[in-house]
Amino acid sequence: MEDYITISSLNDFIFCPYSIYLHNVYMGGKEDLYHATPQTQGKAAHATIDEKKYSSKKDEITSLLVFCDELGIAGKIDIYKGKEKLLIERKYKLETIYRGQIYQLWAEYFCMTEMGYEVEKLAFYAISTNKMFPVEIPTEEDKKELADFILKFNQFNPEDAILINENKCNHCIYCNLCDKTEVENVYT
Ligand code: SF4
Repeated sequence: MEDYITISSLNDFIFCPYSIYLHNVYMGGKEDLYHATPQTQGKAAHATIDEKKYSSKKDEITSLLVFCDELGIAGKIDIYKGKEKLLIERKYKLETIYRGQIYQLWAEYFCMTEMGYEVEKLAFYAISTNKMFPVEIPTEEDKKELADFILKFNQFNPEDAILINENKCNHCIYCNLCDKTEVENVYT
């Protein structure tokens, strides 16, 4: 069976490719070993969606498992509003929208459209400020950029040398488990 890349790991891979390796090694262990504050808030932001409590409106789909065979990705969307053909990804806090987060939303879009859903609008929703951030529908060029990024992800070897950025490391949720750096995690 073909392996799919999880959509949520695309953002982690941009942050640091080695974090994907650490996540895979430790994801079977106790969650509080590697879930430092930012990720815990992110998980809480998704909790109502994952428990399917967020919406009882009939035209809204929440926590749908989605797949895209063409790109080899799979994951779960937050909210799809059928009447508006709007796909929304919720974040606890959103001061800057990073490329990895855009890739995540594009990936959800390509999954939904391959599965036959009509999606005409994309947006992030920041829970902490109650604000929506519209995002353009990806072009063919954007799709190629995402496909190239997924290829890089698939070809990553954890034994390869990686560029260490201490500022990233001390904000990294895997910092305490990482053998590539000695810096301390700021969240502990
Ligand atoms: S601690 Fe640094 S090197 Fe290790 S996974 Fe995190 S960002 Fe990457």
